[in-house]
Amino acid sequence: MNLHNKCFKALSILLFAGISVLQAQTNYQYRLNLNDVKDDKLSVTLITPKVSEAEITFYMPKIVPGTYRNSDFGKFVSNVKAYNAKGQPLNVKQTSENSWQIKKANTLSKIIYDVEDTWDSKIKHEVYSMAGTNFEANKNFVLNTCGIFGYLENKKDLPFTLNITKPAGFYGSTGLVSSSTSSTEDVYETKNADHLYDSPIMFCIPDTTTIKVGNASVLISIYSPNKLATSAVIAKNLETLLQATNKHLGGKLPVDKYAFIYYFNGEQAPFATSGAWEHSYSSFYSLKEEPQETAIGNWVDVSSHEFFHIVTPLTISSKEVKQFDFNNPVMSRHLWLYEGSTEYDSHLVQVRAGINTPNQFLQKLAQQLSFSKNYFKDNLRFTELSQESAGKWQDQYGNVYLKGSLISAALDLYLLKLSGGNYSLKNLKHDLGIKYGKDKYFNDDELFDVITSLTFPEVRQFFADYVEGAKSIPYESFFSYAGVKIVPPAAEDKSKSSKLMFDPNATAEQISLRNAWLNTSFAQPAINTASAADVSSIDQLVKSLYDVISGPAGERDWKRFESLFFPGAYMGAIRQTAQGATFNKTIPSEYVKSNQEAFQKYAFTEHELGRTVNEFGSLAQVFSSYEYTFSTEKPTSRRGINNIQLIKQDNRWWIMSLLWNEENESLPIPAKYINQKARK
Ligand SMILES: [Zn+2]
Repeated sequence: MNLHNKCFKALSILLFAGISVLQAQTNYQYRLNLNDVKDDKLSVTLITPKVSEAEITFYMPKIVPGTYRNSDFGKFVSNVKAYNAKGQPLNVKQTSENSWQIKKANTLSKIIYDVEDTWDSKIKHEVYSMAGTNFEANKNFVLNTCGIFGYLENKKDLPFTLNITKPAGFYGSTGLVSSSTSSTEDVYETKNADHLYDSPIMFCIPDTTTIKVGNASVLISIYSPNKLATSAVIAKNLETLLQATNKHLGGKLPVDKYAFIYYFNGEQAPFATSGAWEHSYSSFYSLKEEPQETAIGNWVDVSSHEFFHIVTPLTISSKEVKQFDFNNPVMSRHLWLYEGSTEYDSHLVQVRAGINTPNQFLQKLAQQLSFSKNYFKDNLRFTELSQESAGKWQDQYGNVYLKGSLISAALDLYLLKLSGGNYSLKNLKHDLGIKYGKDKYFNDDELFDVITSLTFPEVRQFFADYVEGAKSIPYESFFSYAGVKIVPPAAEDKSKSSKLMFDPNATAEQISLRNAWLNTSFAQPAINTASAADVSSIDQLVKSLYDVISGPAGERDWKRFESLFFPGAYMGAIRQTAQGATFNKTIPSEYVKSNQEAFQKYAFTEHELGRTVNEFGSLAQVFSSYEYTFSTEKPTSRRGINNIQLIKQDNRWWIMSLLWNEENESLPIPAKYINQKARK
């Protein structure tokens, strides 16, 4: 959508050369006065770019990218008049719902028309509230620009200037950078019609907060008439998510400025559809006004989805999206990527950032699975659904967020399986982003082959079967790669909702893939597989630790052993030697590997001699003196101190590290670390 076309580049060079007289003739200059609402309408004045044709058509968009539905913004425009430079009227004829033909166009200088807002319009229409317009004098103006400004035939690639006069105290929130601003007027410039329609502006008394995320300055702007929400609270809740997204995208966002613009409806009739619309430098939300304490989780979910659109389709997309024809669009077949993978990523990033637990993430996927299977046609080819989402299959559109997300989950797990945990959907989108970037597009019919060439030959069959084809996705098999089971609904469950659960008997291979799927280097969400009796208190945890490794020669319950530790926790033995202390660092799974044979062969028992606990909030540190006996051919018995670092999360205690130092003649355990009973 931000394609730098050749025309614009050439124009810039001419201007640079000083032929400034061209400027007035080669761009659109729009004027709008927000103080002047009459009958819920605004008057729009356009100084047109120079036209050489004898006749030309003035268009309002029929459909805009990302909405997948005919909006017909021409319905809201009336009283279209055209004038030549002398102010004489030219002949104008409306030729369709969204087009007006102007005669003697080579003399055209000005177009004036009225436009009504969509939100409270009596006109029958299909415009989503988040793509619509609102004119509430002295309160709020939502300018989704596609509903207000039109373009001339074959001239959608010329720049636009918007001069907007605003009420005192009002602030314009947008992803655009204003070229000038005063207390009464803002001026904005866009590269072309794509950039214009990609840039909503909301005017009202401001409640804004700005945060810095990586290289980007992020504006959070809200309109909450009953003050149930504040930008400060939303910003605070978005910040963790945005920092995680930044890391997920490799530490650099593809934007320098971004605006989250929220309209909370607390003074209009309820919207038929509320939601959000993504743009390259902003996203606009029309949501019900609710107390932020209870609604914030949903707001963060939808904001996460919209923000992820800066990757798909706003960076990676096909010709159909990047060279969008607002009045005769060809729909892409890749909504699984644009909407599906965006929805999936927006939830995955929340589990990776520790905002949601792995189990909450599974239940989100389970819900998508149940809704998708219960309410939509599972055997409809997904590419066909994409292409016909504004037409024949309009009633199936909701499934792009459900099955589209599940296709992405299955593909993510399949890529991880094929790569031994080294290549995921995230890597694929990163590679596609590098290959195409903002200025290039792929051809719709080549994408599956391109992805196959970037990944594995097997992936082509995946697309052939489950995205282009009508085969049902065998979800059980894809989820099983990560040791996740689908639990079918109980017979009495009227909602017919399946659940997803982590298999407690997952193999090491499944757990390793699960970790690659849900864990990243920047966050280590822990999956609780421990029995509550082992980990509810510090006392239980320490007792379990001794218990699990003690016993006669034979098998130990190593799953139980590992369940006591936080992912990434480490263990280490310190030994005093003549040269000084040595430290051998290991991790629980390695400890199991190197010791399980010895435990099979010999009895080993370890018991506690004394314990000192320091505890504060969710952290604790335990000095636990021990004595063990290892019954080899030459049985040994030794003592020492275990130093255990613990944290409390998800209502249980976890071992973060377990270090021990053995006692020797010159280093006896101090009496204070051995309790009375044990000393006797
Ligand atoms: Zn979306």
